[in-house]
Amino acid sequence: MILPIYVYGNSVLREKAKAITADYPNLKHLINDMFETLYASEGVGLAAPQVGLSIRLFVVDATVMNDEFPEVKDFKKIFINAQLLEETGEEWYYNEGCLSIPFVREDVLRKSVIKLRYLDENFNEHIETFDGLKARIIQHEYDHIEGKLLIDRVSPIKRRLLKNKLNQIATGMLKPKYKVVLPKKI
Ligand code: ZN
Repeated sequence: MILPIYVYGNSVLREKAKAITADYPNLKHLINDMFETLYASEGVGLAAPQVGLSIRLFVVDATVMNDEFPEVKDFKKIFINAQLLEETGEEWYYNEGCLSIPFVREDVLRKSVIKLRYLDENFNEHIETFDGLKARIIQHEYDHIEGKLLIDRVSPIKRRLLKNKLNQIATGMLKPKYKVVLPKKI
């Protein structure tokens, strides 16, 4: 089932998400729905807070980018209870987008190598190092489970320039092709 995506302004995107246990209800189902949602909205990563659940789960599938970035040709993965252990390497800019902030793309500076501890869909623990585009996609999704968004990582001036657009997203004036959940009016 394709799930609606919570866009900018929803408080769930700002919460630090909680770890889950293997008995989390209908987890397999949720993971399948998240992949389906990811494909329908043509993203490469989706975190649970983006479908309204404040839990430490995100999925990635960047295999569609393999023409430009051969290193992601098999990069389809599920990350549960991820913990970023280390960020090292050179900082580099990459133009990021986010399904929760449609129509916004910004150059974001991040370190190039990460060491991550996470559980796979069978709750087996892995400690793995990622670099390049793989690291970048994970860092973006990891931010989501920490309650951060890419706009937090651009300069205050750029953020100010984005203010109108963000308002239009939060009020539904700017609507993407996929189904969204708007924040409740205060
Ligand atoms: Zn995002």
